[in-house]
Amino acid sequence: MHIGVVRESAAGEARVALVPELVGRLTQAGYVVAVESGAGEAARFFDDAYAAAGATVIDDPVTGAADLVLSVQPLAAELLGRLEPGAATLSFFPASARLAEIGDRRDRQLTTFGMEYVPRISRAQPMDALSSQSLVAGYRAAVVAAGRLRQFFPLNMTSAGTVAPAQVVVLGAGVAGLQAIATCRRLGAVVKGYDVRAAAAEEIRSMGAVAIELTLPALEGSGGYAREMTEERAQQQRDLLAPYVAAADALITTAAVPGRQAPILVTRATIAAMRPGSVVVDLAAESGGNVEGAVPGSVVAIGDVQLWGGSNVASQMPAPASRLYAQNVVNVVLLMTRDGAFAPDFADEIVAAMALTHAGAVRHAPTQALIEQEAPSTNSGNRR
Ligand code: NAD
Repeated sequence: MHIGVVRESAAGEARVALVPELVGRLTQAGYVVAVESGAGEAARFFDDAYAAAGATVIDDPVTGAADLVLSVQPLAAELLGRLEPGAATLSFFPASARLAEIGDRRDRQLTTFGMEYVPRISRAQPMDALSSQSLVAGYRAAVVAAGRLRQFFPLNMTSAGTVAPAQVVVLGAGVAGLQAIATCRRLGAVVKGYDVRAAAAEEIRSMGAVAIELTLPALEGSGGYAREMTEERAQQQRDLLAPYVAAADALITTAAVPGRQAPILVTRATIAAMRPGSVVVDLAAESGGNVEGAVPGSVVAIGDVQLWGGSNVASQMPAPASRLYAQNVVNVVLLMTRDGAFAPDFADEIVAAMALTHAGAVRHAPTQALIEQEAPSTNSGNRR
């Protein structure tokens, strides 16, 4: 069976779905692997390394021969027509924002798997690309803050006197936030962290940071995730956090609620109250922002404070992000392989959760519901 790996075409995407060191895991499992020439270049994985690892390097890996196409971003829509019915794609696939394409894939009898739908169960952890990419983003957030702040992160005691360490506040302590805390600590900053989930306080402390405890009840939804809060509680939280933010040299925000816009945790007025020269890094900028005024991919000045809005942050460290993503992808492919063939078992909980389209049907109930809302009379895919 043939696997194709494409060169990403989306603007700003520097990652690649397979790295040379993992080609062998697929060829040993019985696959023929074709990699588009230049696919790994932006992440510094070059054609000769893929060829040496056993892949064929070609100009066009998306052909009728491909049984499975791997990418980071969804495959460019114009390439879909070149796949045979029954072929599969595996990538991130934000289905709710691409409903027309889901319908097109269903009608072309293509199988679509979305990496962001890997369920959060322990068996699926080696396949969890949202977590692996959050880890990269969290590290990058800390390094951006340290690089932009015109101060030391660590305490320096010199013969000329002592220079105090930077004070950093991290809001949201999931995978990205904890990695940001750990990285700021390694650089020597004094770090305080906050998360709405009660369990997060212990994790924050285990990274060597101080857990900010507010006089507010914890907010936990199903599966250990945060849930959305009322506007009244959100306002109380902003008010209670404001003095911590104002006292920080650097603020990193990473809060998210699954399937929702990011919560606003910090107002423009609070940012303006930070000391001149302070730095704010908002990792949630693409999903609405945790900080009022954050713009994804831009640095905005609020008074004398720089507000850095993240945009595809994991891609800014494309080599480690690709390596981790490729590990997740290969683990998914091997889960779906039997006797040297790509044969996903749709009765498997992980496969079922990741499947968006298969055999002429939309397999993802929330996506099917959205399609029906948009065009109630014209769409008829099966619901899971
Ligand atoms: P996420 O990216 O969904 O959100 C980031 C953090 O923001 C979360 O910790 C959340 O509690 C926090 N948050 C939301 N609203 C907030 C607010 N108003 N104020 C402050 N913080 C707020 O989070 P994540 O990295 O996916 O992690 C969420 C949980 O899932 C964690 O407990 C993590 O350990 C767990 N997890 C489990 C698995 C698994 O079992 N396979 C994999 C990854 C993460």
